[in-house]
Amino acid sequence: MEKDGKNKSSSATETKKEGLAMNRRDLLKTSLGIGAVAAAGAFGFHLTGSKAEAAPLRQLPKKWDEEIDVVIVGSGFAGLAAAAEAAAAGAKAVILEKMPTYGGNSIINGGVYASWDDEYHLRQKLNLGNDSVEQHKADTLKGGDFYGIPDLVEILAKGATPALNWMIKDGGLKIRQTVTRAGGHTAYRTHTCVEGVGRGYTEAIKKIAEGKGAKVRLGTEVTWIWRKDVNSPVAGVEVKTPKGKKNIKIKKALILASGGFSRDIKMRAAFNPGIVPEFNCTNHPGATGEMLRFAQSIGADSLQLAFIQLYPFAEPETGILDTPAVYPFNGVGYGLVYVSKKGKRFVNELERRDVCSFAQIKLGDKPTYSIFNEQMVTKMGGTKEEVEKGIKKGRFIKAATIAELAGKLKMPADVLQDTIKKHNQYIKDGKDPEYNKPMTKSMILLEEGPFYGIAQWPAVHHTMGGLRINKDAQVIDIWGAPIPRLYAAGEVTGGIHGSNRLGSNAIPDCIVFGRIAGANAAKEK
Ligand SMILES: Cc1cc2nc3c(=O)[nH]c(=O)nc-3n(C[C@H](O)[C@H](O)[C@H](O)COP(=O)(O)OP(=O)(O)OC[C@H]3O[C@@H](n4cnc5c(N)ncnc54)[C@H](O)[C@@H]3O)c2cc1C
Repeated sequence: MEKDGKNKSSSATETKKEGLAMNRRDLLKTSLGIGAVAAAGAFGFHLTGSKAEAAPLRQLPKKWDEEIDVVIVGSGFAGLAAAAEAAAAGAKAVILEKMPTYGGNSIINGGVYASWDDEYHLRQKLNLGNDSVEQHKADTLKGGDFYGIPDLVEILAKGATPALNWMIKDGGLKIRQTVTRAGGHTAYRTHTCVEGVGRGYTEAIKKIAEGKGAKVRLGTEVTWIWRKDVNSPVAGVEVKTPKGKKNIKIKKALILASGGFSRDIKMRAAFNPGIVPEFNCTNHPGATGEMLRFAQSIGADSLQLAFIQLYPFAEPETGILDTPAVYPFNGVGYGLVYVSKKGKRFVNELERRDVCSFAQIKLGDKPTYSIFNEQMVTKMGGTKEEVEKGIKKGRFIKAATIAELAGKLKMPADVLQDTIKKHNQYIKDGKDPEYNKPMTKSMILLEEGPFYGIAQWPAVHHTMGGLRINKDAQVIDIWGAPIPRLYAAGEVTGGIHGSNRLGSNAIPDCIVFGRIAGANAAKEK
């Protein structure tokens, strides 16, 4: 499946070049054309003959109920950012959201945001070493095994800081005065909003978007994308509202910001059978893939749909990614340690999410634990209140000594004590002979209590693959050309995070490309 993604990509490029000299009928004779036509036909188009003769399975509606300049599907980071920019450019922008509340995965997200700099230059002030756009880009490409498209990754890395500052200045976003280093990142660049949850960012962008006149319609599900044929621009959408079905004509553009498909068990299994239904999932119930399939049926290309990420530190029984579940992610740059049920380390804690998840699964003994101490809490962007709440919920287990903590976690005290003693020595030596973790001067020795433990286990978290877009956030068709008046941003797109998304990279991805999509959509005549 991954290979398919790669082949399609090179085929699309070839097709673009050759396409200059070929007419549409010739194109269909290429293996790409025939294969793609068969695929699209299975979803919705009658693609016999040439692309020019193609007609949709569903005829355009005879009458439209409403006309809107820019319609955006989805009210998460990507949709809100798109609406904000489209409205700022003077377009009437309306977000359609199928759920009864706004925000999708974005509003429940863990609140961590990767950016090499920020309004206050926190990394520099806190003496946490160097970083740059180039380093962020290189880490993102490497973290995804180089399946990410470099041009798109560069846009993410370049746009992350201006987007963060935009939310701070225009949306009133407040960030915690610390920066963390997370798995797969080689620098301290992960920021946390004061709320410690994605709502901090969604509220800031919603404020900007609504301030510019954008509107959000809840309980409005998009059930089809209207396009006359594969040579025409996107015409509109069909929606299901509590009052019945409606057809909305698009005057400028349609932006798909409908998120990933981690909750779509059938679709997950179709692209990656290894992501079995038994896995827990961190996502909201609306994270299903119908918009991606509708886009495919009007000719959109997709890539890398088999790349589906597990979050290694979810609550073991439910898969929920609550505030305590972000501590194992944020703490590693400050010396937090992962141990098995037997009290032993099993992985380099600064490794990528896929490496950590598969190391846990390989242990075959649920759950694993993160061990940290009070000194680390504020450094890693945590607060006393969060810790107190986590203890009350039974998520954080607190103890005065490592031996007492081992007893509470039901693991052999001598083994956990030995593990922590060794790790302390590795910090002092600046070298981890067991797992080769890059030890940094910012890491704290686990010598002084109180100590904490938190249980963690992998759950399905993020779909890296999705619709193919270009640098302007236009959706590309199976022949390699942009589909007129169709844009996409956020988790519904693919080709940015490659085989594995680095934690805290999704928020900037969604917001940066959402802004681009919104600004370009508003420019359509
Ligand atoms: C629990 C959790 C924690 C996370 N923490 C972080 C983090 O701290 N940092 C980070 O970088 N990333 C994190 N991620 C990933 C990140 O939050 C997501 O990738 C991001 O929120 C996706 O944003 P989006 O705008 O693309 O989609 P979403 O925020 O999911 O929004 C899409 C919206 O589209 C709606 N929709 C879908 N189909 C239709 C339809 N047919 N009609 C109408 N509406 C539709 C959905 O209901 C949804 O509201 C986390 C993810 C989860 C689940």
